[in-house]
Amino acid sequence: MEAAIAPRPEVLVVEDETNIRELICLHLGLEHMSCVQAADGQAGLQLARERPFDLVILDLMLPGLDGVTVCRAIRRESRNVETPILMLTARREESDKVVGLDSGADDYLTKPFGVRELMARVRALLRRGPRAAAAEVSGTARPVTYKHIEIDPSRRRVRVGGRDVELTSQEFQLLYVLLSNPGIVFSREALLGRVWKDDTFVTGRSVDTLVKRVRRKIEENPAEPSVVLTVWGTGYKAADV
Ligand code: CA
Repeated sequence: MEAAIAPRPEVLVVEDETNIRELICLHLGLEHMSCVQAADGQAGLQLARERPFDLVILDLMLPGLDGVTVCRAIRRESRNVETPILMLTARREESDKVVGLDSGADDYLTKPFGVRELMARVRALLRRGPRAAAAEVSGTARPVTYKHIEIDPSRRRVRVGGRDVELTSQEFQLLYVLLSNPGIVFSREALLGRVWKDDTFVTGRSVDTLVKRVRRKIEENPAEPSVVLTVWGTGYKAADV
């Protein structure tokens, strides 16, 4: 019997600085990954719309479309809605971290970075594979326990304090995304991308309505939520545990 040959992971690298882009691709190549290069946001987004990748490495500061805009667009509608995204940023401010994660990126790395650090992040993201929200659909996501709430994606079951709670698939998806990332703020746009996927007929208001419905079902006092919190001017998060 022949051993199965693992396919070469395909990585999209969107970076306008040629030296950095080629350095990244050189090291991806050394680890038997194939690299597709884009030198600006528009080209990167175009590629992400056309074909699926195993990972996207996306620079924040790009001419034309910036990294956050590209990231949000990839999450909203492309063939890479669930693909892990590693954001590269030149600034060290904490706000970058928030902006990056909030826009739908999975991890970020501040320039200048070492090649070892980069490759460690790349391998970790590839091991993790498509996002939790995507895995939920195929029933392979891990169960999550958050305070008194248990979520079992394989059975699509939610228990609050030992009591079964019926959720629609969108309510379930929203709760799963938030509770598997406690403390992480998700913008309405990020939640739209993860809960509704390709449906373009929804707006930020749809997220607010969905959050209200979820709160009514899982919060002890929906008027003063302790699980799904509003982050004013930004979006929602699950309270830190
Ligand atoms: Ca740049």
